[in-house]
Amino acid sequence: METVQIQAEKRSYPVMIGEGLRYQLADVLKETTAGKSRFLLVVDEAVDALYREETESQLARLLPVSTYVMPGGEQSKSVEELSRLWEFAAESEMDRKSVFVALGGGVAGDLTGFAAAGYMRGVDYIQLPTTLLAQDSSVGGKTGINLHAGKNLAGAFHPPLAVIYDTGTLHTLPDAEWRSGFAEMIKHAYLDGEAFLQDLKARVQSVEDMKSPEVASWIKRSIEVKARIVEEDEREQGVRAFLNLGHTLGHALEKEMGYGRITHGEGVAAGLWFALAVSNNEGAGHWDLEKEKAWLESLGYPVDAPGRLSADTIVESMKRDKKASHGEIHYVLLEKPGKPMTAKVEENTIRQLLDRYYK
Ligand code: NAD
Ligand code: MG
Repeated sequence: METVQIQAEKRSYPVMIGEGLRYQLADVLKETTAGKSRFLLVVDEAVDALYREETESQLARLLPVSTYVMPGGEQSKSVEELSRLWEFAAESEMDRKSVFVALGGGVAGDLTGFAAAGYMRGVDYIQLPTTLLAQDSSVGGKTGINLHAGKNLAGAFHPPLAVIYDTGTLHTLPDAEWRSGFAEMIKHAYLDGEAFLQDLKARVQSVEDMKSPEVASWIKRSIEVKARIVEEDEREQGVRAFLNLGHTLGHALEKEMGYGRITHGEGVAAGLWFALAVSNNEGAGHWDLEKEKAWLESLGYPVDAPGRLSADTIVESMKRDKKASHGEIHYVLLEKPGKPMTAKVEENTIRQLLDRYYK
């Protein structure tokens, strides 16, 4: 088992990573949950059939458990689902000392964390991630749901008591989810430096390679990168923005191509490559763009996806993004691995580069 200790504003919490940890939950959580009253286990529907029983029986060795099964998918991050979950918590007699537990991916984590942040003005929660993307979503204390007006528009900063990451649960993850989650890991590697990035490039040339026994160590490194950035800037006033590398274009692709047509990670991977191209153009980088593209494409990422949309559609979408301010496009550029910076890039420049690289 590997542990990363994360220092949040309100508390410090461990992220424990290892194969088979779900069979050791009672031991691992004993001290953390001493003095608590009950567990509210929130399980993603797809995960219910796979990992609920063993998780429940471990938790039940510590405290009484009530289980809520939420429908899988992004639509569960809704006001309606939050409301059902809160009512269920009240009916199950959850009190201030109860602990919410999320078993699933980023959706279960974000919904459960936000529910915990608001239930009785705040109860504790624990994350039991079951997706690769959760190496991103389970760290950093952001929780939330979507509104009709946009993604993650309602939420709270609410760090968990602990994150217990059983990499054994990843074996049942579909390839598309491996690829999507791995893109955020690649992003963390570009943000970290040459060593991590070279390691991934040398060892991973296909989705099958992502499923290596080494994935636990990559998850750990990836979490350390995110933790370092978030510890410096939990509330996103400064360096936390570096985590948006690849997301300016990524979000625009998701939104304009239609959610479901391109996964979040695929959008991020395409966006990452374009961020390198913008970096070169702004004189901030010296990337061998063909080489970077070849690696990303070997992993199945649709680097050329922006070509399916007009440059105008993309630029307008970027300007409407929550992270844009006053219609200006702020870009995370990368001088070299481990050297990110933010810059305002003229929309005309973005338009020209989109035309140059994708037409
Ligand atoms: P997800 O939770 O929807 O899981 C993806 C799919 O895999 C779902 O269909 C789920 O049912 C299924 N699944 C989960 N675990 C499985 C397993 N072990 N075996 C088989 N199937 C399994 O999606 P995700 O990619 O984990 O997370 C995406 C969400 O995370 C988004 O809503 C995003 O906004 C959020 N997010 C939050 C943060 C944050 O800081 N809070 C950061 C990044 C992303
Ligand atoms: Mg992301």
